[in-house]
Amino acid sequence: MRQIAIYGKGGIGKSTTTQNLAAALAEAGKKLMIVGCDPKADSTRLILGGMSQDTVLDTLRDKEEDEVELSDFLHTGFLGIRAVESGGPEPGVGCAGRGIVSAINLLESMGAYTPDLDYVLYDVLGDVVCGGFAMPIREGKAKEIYIVCSGEMMSLYAANNICKGIRRYAVMGRTKLGGLICNSRLVDNERELVEEFARRIGTQLLYFIPRDNLVQHAELRRQTVIEYAPESNQADHYRALARAMAENERFSVPEPMGREELEVLLMEYLPLGA
Ligand code: ADP
Ligand code: MG
Repeated sequence: MRQIAIYGKGGIGKSTTTQNLAAALAEAGKKLMIVGCDPKADSTRLILGGMSQDTVLDTLRDKEEDEVELSDFLHTGFLGIRAVESGGPEPGVGCAGRGIVSAINLLESMGAYTPDLDYVLYDVLGDVVCGGFAMPIREGKAKEIYIVCSGEMMSLYAANNICKGIRRYAVMGRTKLGGLICNSRLVDNERELVEEFARRIGTQLLYFIPRDNLVQHAELRRQTVIEYAPESNQADHYRALARAMAENERFSVPEPMGREELEVLLMEYLPLGA
């Protein structure tokens, strides 16, 4: 069972990418569980379609712990993919990371990590990897990390900060960064910039996903692109990402860049004359 944590700035496309990746792997016969670790609790809606998405924290609020059943929050969606949302506190109340800790502990104690699973994907909000959000990597649960980013400055700042969190929290030598996934925002020289950023922090650009409105069309129907438009180029990109991840052998402990160095790098890749 490969346990993989996917980090990245809010809004960068983690949930979209994770669910399409999961759908592509499921299509290839793999068994998966997605664990949404974002208080927004929208990590699995494309997999579950219209189904209920009670979160682990909602369940724990509504029921006594000894009455809780896996089926209260673990649902099966597209191609048999299992989906869980950890949930979060009401905005402004308590630490959002705590939901993730409760969720993973409960999933473990209730036997959700069945041996038939090939992959468990954690979709983790990670502008800053605080203690709770580091949970999937801190205790060595996820051995692999990927960061979703784009060529936009704020997303690379976030990716760099996430690398600092990885150094701080990842069980050294056991949890490693497998690479960056660039989810294009149509920034000038984007691929080259992200490749260079990856090189500087000691990792690789695993895959470059183009921006395509088909993603929104599918999203409106609560579907992955794999389900909505299986013949499309975009679906093939997600399949290629799935292959790249399945075959990846390049893992490292990243070396985050200094703030100044990162700013200089961004300037270098601005188009000439800008
Ligand atoms: P996150 O989980 O990182 O907060 P989401 O996966 O929810 O981000 O994506 C944010 C928005 O970006 C969504 O509306 C989604 O449809 C859109 N999006 C993500 N990836 C792409 C893409 N490759 N092309 C076009 N739109 C995309
Ligand atoms: Mg999300």
